[in-house]
Amino acid sequence: MNGAEYFGKAAVGTRAEAEWIVCRSCKLLLYGKRFTRHAKVCPECGWHSSLTASERLAFLLDPGSTTTVQPGASVRDPLGFTDLKPYAGRLVAARQATGLDDAVLVAHGTVHDRPVVAAVMDFRFLGGSLGSAAGEAVATAAETALGCGSPLLLVTASGGARMQEGVISLMQMARTSNAMAAMDEAGLLTLTLITDPTFGGVSASFVTLADVLIAEPGARMGFAGPRVIEQTVRQRLPERFQTAEFLLEHGLVDTVLPRSEVPRMVANLLGVADAPDERWGADVRDPMVRDPARLAAPPVEETVRRARELGRPTTMDHIAGWLDDFVELRGDRTGEDCRALVGGLARLDGLPVMVIGHQKGHDLDALVRNNFGMPSPAGYRKAARLMRLAAKLHVPVITLIDTPGAHPGVDAERGGQAHAIAECLRVMGSLPVPIVAVVNGEGGSGGALALAVADRVLMCENAIYSVISPEGCAAILWRDAERRAEAAAALRLNARSMLELGVIDGVVPEPAGGAHNRPDRAGRLVHDAVVCALRDLRRLPGVQLVSARRARFRRFGSPAA
Ligand SMILES: [Zn+2]
Repeated sequence: MNGAEYFGKAAVGTRAEAEWIVCRSCKLLLYGKRFTRHAKVCPECGWHSSLTASERLAFLLDPGSTTTVQPGASVRDPLGFTDLKPYAGRLVAARQATGLDDAVLVAHGTVHDRPVVAAVMDFRFLGGSLGSAAGEAVATAAETALGCGSPLLLVTASGGARMQEGVISLMQMARTSNAMAAMDEAGLLTLTLITDPTFGGVSASFVTLADVLIAEPGARMGFAGPRVIEQTVRQRLPERFQTAEFLLEHGLVDTVLPRSEVPRMVANLLGVADAPDERWGADVRDPMVRDPARLAAPPVEETVRRARELGRPTTMDHIAGWLDDFVELRGDRTGEDCRALVGGLARLDGLPVMVIGHQKGHDLDALVRNNFGMPSPAGYRKAARLMRLAAKLHVPVITLIDTPGAHPGVDAERGGQAHAIAECLRVMGSLPVPIVAVVNGEGGSGGALALAVADRVLMCENAIYSVISPEGCAAILWRDAERRAEAAAALRLNARSMLELGVIDGVVPEPAGGAHNRPDRAGRLVHDAVVCALRDLRRLPGVQLVSARRARFRRFGSPAA
């Protein structure tokens, strides 16, 4: 039992429940019990009010599972600081008002029966500011997680560093960031739930270093607060500036999630550690064709047409069709979220995997929204980020390739399109986890290869894979784009040729006439082929995978190949 349900049955926190509450957003008068039942989210407009640290723990962790962890000792007033009042006196008052020792509560517990260590900030305690005791609490939480091999969940609400502790408070940023680095080295998942407000030193340290950043609707996060920015640059800030929704659009958080849905998503993410046993996938029949002679050879123009067919299953269709518990992870963390390239954690018949793919669409609206499946540099930066995360968490990577090519444009060039693609090639060449790539539509140039440096490269029967589009090739070499059929034939871009050239390891059959005729069946065949490729690969150690993968690509163009 979790979340709203729990709220309905137990008193939460220490404060008495007010009988009536005015919603800060829609100004409606709400019955206190109803408000509490909705986890203190306005049932009328969705406004998320703040929770105390103990309310938050009660909401997130399974009832009865929580054990408080006591952080180590801290020097409480390192500077002997006094402003209008002595800092020591402010601490005493904050303790009395909140019943807390300092701004962070640490606890060990479970979310939907999966263990986690949680460090939760309480804004009531001197604005959730980061001083020695809060830094110690975050470091203790990470060390506790390391000690028991648990993931770490951080919940933030903070105005920034605690000025009254001077430079010692600044040092907490380094202390807590180092704790996150140790979690990375141990391969343990870290999650942050960003609540309103999260500013300054915490956001520029442990908060944003987590593997997955979840934000509550409307929560604001940033380094400099809006008032400071406005006073400094003397310009009006964009609407919704620094809100969760703004951060999501700009690639700075993975998702914005209503409070009631957070426990389920956290539990899904915590499940990344549950790997199935050796028998995983044993009863799946391998549908792959490895003999080129067994493949039908329709006219190459027909193959090009089928590869571009709008009804072909997209990456999101494949994810919906044969993966479970998908959690989309968004953003390149430097200012953009590219919709032409999607990815996230999911489960393949129980096996946790990272899935990454180009995303087109079935109609013009979707195609425009997703830039026709042509990623920006941000798309490739997101892909590289997710690949590194897969390596950290020891989960295999599945890529689904369907792009006319990386986006050609001024912004893309300025944003380092070449660098971003090259980085994907390098990351994939070093990834110590299995990688299975499926060219499921158009495999266009470097923008496709950026997801295809894999241990097994599969190709759907009617997909194409090429250094350039037939139109582009005809325009350049024939000086006539109309001669695309000749160019397509000369490029030998169909699956049969790719098999003959050794570029791919096998062909996934498609339903008669093409995948668009029976998308579900087509998806099932890709599923079966991916499972069969992964069930062998996942037995191999990382070093062996890397050396075999490099050898695979080392030989292209050699006479013996
Ligand atoms: Zn409201």
